[in-house]
Amino acid sequence: MRSGRGRLYLTAPFPEANHMPNPADWELFRRQREALVVDSVTAVEGEPLAPRTTLRIGGPARVLLRCATRDGVVAALRAVREAGVPWLVLGLGANVLVPDDGLDAVVLTLVGDLASISREGTRIRAGAGAQLARVVRESLSAGLAGVECLGGIPSTVGGALAMNAGAYGQEILNVLAWVEVVEDDLTVRRLERWEVHGGYRWSVLGKGRIVTSVELALRAEDPEVLREHVRKAREQRQRAIPPEPSAGSVFRNPTGDYAGRLLELAGCKGLRRGGAEVSQRHANVIVNTGVATAADVRALVAEMAGRVHERFGINLALELKVLDGKGKVLAEPGSPLA
Ligand SMILES: Cc1cc2nc3c(=O)[nH]c(=O)nc-3n(C[C@H](O)[C@H](O)[C@H](O)COP(=O)(O)OP(=O)(O)OC[C@H]3O[C@@H](n4cnc5c(N)ncnc54)[C@H](O)[C@@H]3O)c2cc1C
Repeated sequence: MRSGRGRLYLTAPFPEANHMPNPADWELFRRQREALVVDSVTAVEGEPLAPRTTLRIGGPARVLLRCATRDGVVAALRAVREAGVPWLVLGLGANVLVPDDGLDAVVLTLVGDLASISREGTRIRAGAGAQLARVVRESLSAGLAGVECLGGIPSTVGGALAMNAGAYGQEILNVLAWVEVVEDDLTVRRLERWEVHGGYRWSVLGKGRIVTSVELALRAEDPEVLREHVRKAREQRQRAIPPEPSAGSVFRNPTGDYAGRLLELAGCKGLRRGGAEVSQRHANVIVNTGVATAADVRALVAEMAGRVHERFGINLALELKVLDGKGKVLAEPGSPLA
């Protein structure tokens, strides 16, 4: 992907990234899928993905697999791996740009047991497909602190861990006790907090493995204090985040500065490509005015990065995961634009 004045570095996140599946691979996958004796996996062909993303953009998935148990995830991944076809796991689709022609890949989503939530004392256990907002509500009703500022982030628990989602001084990794993952080689592992590396909007959980469940360690807090934190976070979010469909921040903040500030000074607010527009409310957010395509968004991303580079000599790094037709991330969060 190239911008007029900038260059996006590409990365190859999966071992099979350079393998081009052929019709025989897909036929093998179809047979593997039919042979799946796990009733916790259901498959839909040609499922539209636009309604499954917050930008409301993107074509269909070749196959969508809904996995309701961990064993279902393992079985699904085995079928995918043996056929050698590309795959990715999708949460709420709040940080991805799906191509207009869709994904010629297997898209896994987590439902059922993998979207459940339970609490014991100050600990909350959640399936990775559970919505983060539900976890936050559970913590608030139990008077627990640690995630109360994250309630407004559209996310699944798995997506939040993959991205190390955060807001207003809180990050999900800070309250992680342990996480269960299915590795690319099909092994199931429980990783303790210290084994999970991550930082600003990234973690090792975001690549080549599937988070299936987690336990969060929270702490008891005065309900009045909690309510005040929630109120402040909600107010700040309402001021900053536009109501139209978006994927939140497009670029990460460079060290010591704000991408939104640089983009605003570079005259990006209100810039438009087709149906995609840089929000008037926040220069680091692209909104879908109703008819935007992924191509519109990509053109706008390139223009924004180019303007900041021209004016400040700064290469902004993407936060948004821009996917190619096989579901490969074209530019990982943190990859530079030059
Ligand atoms: C209006 C709006 C406001 C936002 N505000 C914030 C904010 O304040 N702070 C913030 O941090 N983010 C924010 N975001 C971005 C987004 O909400 C987060 O990045 C969120 O954590 C993405 O979660 P998701 O479930 O939608 O993941 P997706 O977008 O579906 O996927 C993101 C990545 O996570 C991976 N992934 C998803 N599930 C799993 C899993 N189970 N196991 C392994 N990998 C997985 C995907 O493969 C993909 O690589 C905002 C977005 C919007 C639209």
